Amino acid sequence: MTATAETRTALVEDLMARFPDVPPEAVLKEDLLRTGIAFDESALTDNLEGEVKPKSYFIFSFDQKPLAELGEARTRRPPEEIALTGGPWGLRRTIVSVRVNPESPYRVSLGDDAALVLTLDGRVLAAVALPPMPEYYRHLLSNGKTVMETAPTIQWGYLVYLTVLRLCQYFGAHEECKFCDINHNWRQHKREGRPYTGVKPVEDVLEALALIDRYDTGRVSTAYTLTGGSVTSTVDGLAEADFYGRYAEAIESRFPGRWIGKVVAQALPKADVQRFKDYGISIYHPNYEVWDERLFSIISPGKERYVGRSEWHRRIFDAADVFGASHVIPNFVAGVEMARPFGFESLDEAILSTTEGLDHFMSRGITPRFTTWCPEPTTPLGRDNPNGAPLEYHIRLLRAYREALDRNGLEPPPGYGPPGPGNAVFSVSSFMDTLEAAA
Ligand code: SF4
Repeated sequence: MTATAETRTALVEDLMARFPDVPPEAVLKEDLLRTGIAFDESALTDNLEGEVKPKSYFIFSFDQKPLAELGEARTRRPPEEIALTGGPWGLRRTIVSVRVNPESPYRVSLGDDAALVLTLDGRVLAAVALPPMPEYYRHLLSNGKTVMETAPTIQWGYLVYLTVLRLCQYFGAHEECKFCDINHNWRQHKREGRPYTGVKPVEDVLEALALIDRYDTGRVSTAYTLTGGSVTSTVDGLAEADFYGRYAEAIESRFPGRWIGKVVAQALPKADVQRFKDYGISIYHPNYEVWDERLFSIISPGKERYVGRSEWHRRIFDAADVFGASHVIPNFVAGVEMARPFGFESLDEAILSTTEGLDHFMSRGITPRFTTWCPEPTTPLGRDNPNGAPLEYHIRLLRAYREALDRNGLEPPPGYGPPGPGNAVFSVSSFMDTLEAAA
């Protein structure tokens, strides 16, 4: 059987059989991330009034339909993540970020014994656990804002996600990355009347972190990511390094070393990167999105225009002098290299290209990581590729990633929680589920 298998179940099981060295948990998780999940009303949350942690929309929509087309999930949010166990494949606990798609063949609903289950083609695949509402979400900031909007946590509570700028100054078709709906997502939340702060005041962020610090008594929250759109001019009169740096400086002054500090920003000149380090940031993510030279200029035209691919890559290496190679972790968006009409025609070519990029960085001690592409419908690539990239590509890429890591003698990147099936908490790709658990 091939990747054109007749049912989704057949496709998934065929890939599990052909790639037995990739955990079945990872195969299923990749398919859920690229396809999205339909949610029965019984599986939705009561927003901040209930017992389940709702989806915060922490940066992009990560949905396969616009908010206005999500039915009941438009007003009653789905959970932030789901945890899958058991079923016919005996799944070890697998945490998956929620991407909503009312048309998905995957559905979360109540099973026979009134517990939630994940089904595919009408067959139960796994028991579903939902993330409990964290105590810190039940407390408001003094100005009435919520912790969920100001400092949401993802990865089952491991990571505080601080999108302090909810817009990107790469703007319009000639600058925005062609897979990215950050600007659209901001607009749709505003249109729906949801609180969705464009630029988060530093004081709000500190207050939300103080609530997390106070009520996260189990100290599950381990890292924070400072992120948002690219700044090509200024925000609040500050250029990009100063803008993101002011949050880093304030957080590390107030809570020194409480969390592992990470920044996602453009590949900046070394002196700017040094300032992040001086403020107390320990991990830097200058995301290169896609390796191939032609595709980079098409898919990330803003990055090409403002920095340029070769300079972007050079600055990644410069950053290794500042942070140490293992603490420079550039992201790429797994799957966009196969998106029509620009992407590779064959899986082999795409794997070859992406692996070349992995070796380029890993041979110098830098460990890229990836986010599984979500084909959001308001983006050019999502519109043209509503089904995303072939599942087989994602599975082969997981294997290629693990082989590249081994070939270059590297460990799983720091700041992502534990590796291994049953252990991983990283929820927007299964690369951590695919790596060996620590001995
Ligand atoms: S740099 Fe690209 S991926 Fe990042 S927010 Fe801007 S448009 Fe989106």
